[in-house]
Amino acid sequence: MTHRILILGGTTEARQLAERLAGRAEFDVTLSLAGRTANPVDHPVPVRSGGFGGAEGLANYLKEQEISLLVDATHPYAARISANAAQAAEEAGIKILGLRRPPWRRQPYDRWTLVTDAQAAVAALGPHPRKVFLALGRQELAAFETAPQHSYLIRSVDPVEPPLAVPNATYVLARGPFAEDAEKAMLVERRIDAIVAKNSGGAATYGKIAAARALGIEVILFRRPALPPVATVETVDATIAAIDHWLANERGV
Ligand code: NAP
Repeated sequence: MTHRILILGGTTEARQLAERLAGRAEFDVTLSLAGRTANPVDHPVPVRSGGFGGAEGLANYLKEQEISLLVDATHPYAARISANAAQAAEEAGIKILGLRRPPWRRQPYDRWTLVTDAQAAVAALGPHPRKVFLALGRQELAAFETAPQHSYLIRSVDPVEPPLAVPNATYVLARGPFAEDAEKAMLVERRIDAIVAKNSGGAATYGKIAAARALGIEVILFRRPALPPVATVETVDATIAAIDHWLANERGV
């Protein structure tokens, strides 16, 4: 008997988990993406794309597709889908497992200012013109239009359309991982004096945090949103172990 697993993805870990599960005959795995990225990287399992229509839509999908395990491997800041996932799994009466990278911890010489959202980040930048590196998703960028005195360097996977209504903005299209040395070189070359970012955790985007520490640059960091209290692991290895444990229970071993 195969067990149908739905992975809510959009992260490196979700793709790695799909890779690890793809070769296992006892599982039938589907990965779900929000559909925001124009050319997502290839995945080794069937992919479905786009929202489900809230918690209810997701619960219906889980029932229709006879999913027996839901793995929420979305980004730690994707709070809405995680809340929906917890609710939908309960409604469908199936097991849910969260895969969440632990946040980065403040190190000596880090100059972090913690904020709750983009508006608070704008306030933290202050009134005087600064050179700001915005390492944020497109959804959070609009708030910076209220602070046109700064010049912005904006890095994203897809083009920012329409561009921000500010006089000084430079756009860089790139997909991580980003190494510390390259980040340091970029921060120096562009004379950046503040970075605005999320505390994503993991190695792929830590380069800018380490580089900022070495250069004494302020990092305005979004606090992590509250997430539902579901059983959660921090690594792909731990997810595989938890899935094997769940499978053994299902089989009554
Ligand atoms: P969000 O605010 O929590 O979700 C908004 C809506 O998008 C959800 O209600 C859901 O629509 C849909 N959605 C989100 N993730 C989905 C998924 N994996 N599959 C199907 N539908 C999904 O999420 P977000 O912050 O916009 O993030 C969207 C995607 O980008 C996620 O997959 C996340 O892992 C990835 N991502 C996010 C960030 C970030 O900083 N937020 C960074 C890197 C990657 P319905 O209610 O209609 O189902």
